[in-house]
Amino acid sequence: MDILTYPVGSYSERADLVNRVVDLVGAEYRPTHVLLDGEDYSKTDGVLEEFKDIAFYWNRDHAINSVPSHVLAVMKDVACHHMVWLSRRALEEDEILFVWIVAHELRHFFQVTHHFSLASLRQESQNLRRRQQYRGLPSGPMAPAELDSDIFAMSTCETFFGKADINCYFARRRLPRCPFTSYPAYLQDLQQLWNPSTQ
Ligand SMILES: [Zn+2]
Repeated sequence: MDILTYPVGSYSERADLVNRVVDLVGAEYRPTHVLLDGEDYSKTDGVLEEFKDIAFYWNRDHAINSVPSHVLAVMKDVACHHMVWLSRRALEEDEILFVWIVAHELRHFFQVTHHFSLASLRQESQNLRRRQQYRGLPSGPMAPAELDSDIFAMSTCETFFGKADINCYFARRRLPRCPFTSYPAYLQDLQQLWNPSTQ
């Protein structure tokens, strides 16, 4: 796995953290490339919408038009098959949230390379949202692949930092992807209800 930083030589502490996360979760979660991109695209026209996100997973099935030149150079590398791109916003986040974002994207890589069904997760997530305390959650962030990535990110963070620290952190900090106070508890309940065959 190549961990690349832009500008070159920046974010070395974050690069170490990515390595530690990948070492923790195992070889099946090791993309060919991780790009820590210190550029800010929030006000840049003419780049793919993904660059407005906090992070994304890319492989050769995805487009390479409207991509900044230093990212295009990585995508065109014949050794680059699976890349996790991390934005400056992700790089400047708290350590816990940074690890969450990294683990979430690594899980998207795992989903694409392992082809397991998320039908039961979809069903369980819909059932759970009928509970009184979760009725206010929006439907937008509830795609099964995203929920699966968040469940994986949560359990990775719990292993990495300890469950108590994670509970404490999300009592005061909301997740950018679904900034609702009930969402971490929803994920924990969903994880209990759903037993994916791959875990
Ligand atoms: Zn995602």
